[in-house]
Amino acid sequence: MTTTTQPITAQPETAQIETAQSSTAHTATPHPASTRRVQTAILDAGAGAAATAPRFTGVEPDADWFAEVRDLLRKRNATLLAHNYELPAIQDVADHVGDSLALSRIAAESDADEIVFAGVHFMAETAKILSPDKTVLIPDARAGCSLADSITADELREWKAEFPDAVVVSYVNTTAEVKALTDICCTSSNAVEVVASIDPDLDVLFLPDQFLGAHVKRQTGRDNIHIWAGECHVHAGINGDELTAKAAAHPDAELFVHPECGCATSALYLAGEGVVPDEKVKILSTGGMLDAARATGARQVLVATEVGMLHQLRKAAPDVDFQPVNDRASCPFMKMITPAALLRCLREGRDEVHVDADTAARARRSVEKMIAIGNPGSGE
Ligand code: SF4
Repeated sequence: MTTTTQPITAQPETAQIETAQSSTAHTATPHPASTRRVQTAILDAGAGAAATAPRFTGVEPDADWFAEVRDLLRKRNATLLAHNYELPAIQDVADHVGDSLALSRIAAESDADEIVFAGVHFMAETAKILSPDKTVLIPDARAGCSLADSITADELREWKAEFPDAVVVSYVNTTAEVKALTDICCTSSNAVEVVASIDPDLDVLFLPDQFLGAHVKRQTGRDNIHIWAGECHVHAGINGDELTAKAAAHPDAELFVHPECGCATSALYLAGEGVVPDEKVKILSTGGMLDAARATGARQVLVATEVGMLHQLRKAAPDVDFQPVNDRASCPFMKMITPAALLRCLREGRDEVHVDADTAARARRSVEKMIAIGNPGSGE
């Protein structure tokens, strides 16, 4: 067997990242206001935040590494799923690359004994919820998500108590405990459809992403939708000013915008003002972006989402010049799944993801209800 000789080392954790990830350790999370302060601190640090995130290091993703990963996967009868925002080497060694929900559904249908989920913790939890009998591993359980962390189960209980008759709609970027308190989950592809399916006389509590919530409110025209003020610090960092400047500098380019981006509203506004022709602005989930990439006639496309997405877009349409709206929009949590972390995971069978049976059953109901309403397409 080929072996990688470089030792795996773990860098010390930083307080900044540890605070933002507290829910991944299933401990109490800070109030959203304090969480947002942490998110802003990470955003302000820009690329520096990714550089200081705790992570396993010391392994280069070379040919020996690739061979050892594939060999260990075969021996464990495991399948490796990688999110679109992972490092290119992790995407390239994986069995499947995609968005969180599509990968969870692949996990549920897989014959493998083990699912190795290269993504953030809530995604691996979702795979476990849909595959309760399989072992689910994540290469680094500290890989959290500032959006999922922006609401805790206790905060949702309090919010529900204020609106006892409301229907709770949660984006898939939520913890298993929050999904268990949810009536219907949604993705960025079907959020409008899910909310439109709800009795117009009933209040809707939409969480946790305020930008996706604003998009849904605008599309459905509902006044009785209450939106949680959560955000992803990576997407919120892609703002309208940057988008305007990029669009002006590249007048012939199309614009692919993820609805979690702070600039989604700006993109629609620019289209309405005629600054960017309406047909050039596409509000798309990550899965939708790949379909649009294969179909586009444009020579250049500006992409407003996490930069890891560019790897799959460039593979899907090599003749198109894909450019990030903000090249600092890199999720430090996703990038914690390093080549060293993956090797540790496969050598040692760590970190295993657990969701208690009752929480998993209730969370599964909210996901299945979404699937019953229509095609969930894809989320982040
Ligand atoms: S990009 Fe944002 S929403 Fe996605 S995992 Fe990172 S922090 Fe969470």
